[in-house]
Amino acid sequence: MPRLNCLIEYQDKEIELVRYKASAKSADAVKNFNKAKDDYDKLVGEKQNLEEKTEKLIVEFNKLTDDSDIEKDFEYTFVGEDSEYETLMRLYGEYFDAFKRGEIKYSEDGEIVNDEKYEEYITADEIKEYEVVFADFQEKLKQRKKRINGFIADFEKAEKKLDEYDKKISSSKKALDEAQVKYDDFMKAFDKRAAEIKKELDAAAKAIPTDIKNQFNIVRKLKKEAKEKDMRVMSKIVDGKCSICKAPVSKEKSKAIGNNENVVFCDNCERILYR
Ligand SMILES: [Zn+2]
Repeated sequence: MPRLNCLIEYQDKEIELVRYKASAKSADAVKNFNKAKDDYDKLVGEKQNLEEKTEKLIVEFNKLTDDSDIEKDFEYTFVGEDSEYETLMRLYGEYFDAFKRGEIKYSEDGEIVNDEKYEEYITADEIKEYEVVFADFQEKLKQRKKRINGFIADFEKAEKKLDEYDKKISSSKKALDEAQVKYDDFMKAFDKRAAEIKKELDAAAKAIPTDIKNQFNIVRKLKKEAKEKDMRVMSKIVDGKCSICKAPVSKEKSKAIGNNENVVFCDNCERILYR
């Protein structure tokens, strides 16, 4: 066999191995597995985000109901026998309700005009004052109720969504496990074939005579150092040109190669030429 042929065989095997390894990416088993994994990771990430948001919501809710100034203010104002609200309602609620029902009326200068029995206990100014105070109470209660209801609605929404995520995650995990089985089967066969090609490549390397192997390695090293994309060392002469860099090859050089017996380099890309 012509001496250069072992280099050509070696290079072909090398290219075959690189191409074969790269082909794994486009295999259905690998693509499906990667997609199933991405889907699963995405869902888990989304669920985690929602859990973190819900945690924050709980902290905020606790702040509102446990130890905040709002709560103290609320308790002082509304909770228990001694609260501001209860005390005022006890003292004046009856009159204020009577006023609201229209049983107490007062004139522009503040005199109670319709019923003298109330006049003994309350003035029109006081009624006006309580009108404001009770309206303020009502507003405060309304706001608090609104906030608490808002939290409850948010919790319920989050809980429902978390349940949905659990369902989605469990079916996504099932799909991932199935894809994993197919992926493992595929990779087992794939790695087996890759190992075979590697074995053939090693055998091809062994067959190369030492002197030309050194020359091959020198060119390979140059290509690596120059960080060239095309790592091929051997280049066929086609139509009097180096087929890789397209530089012309003189007839003398071409002749010097003989029947692919002698190492001759391309003037331009320094690859080993063959015919
Ligand atoms: Zn060249």
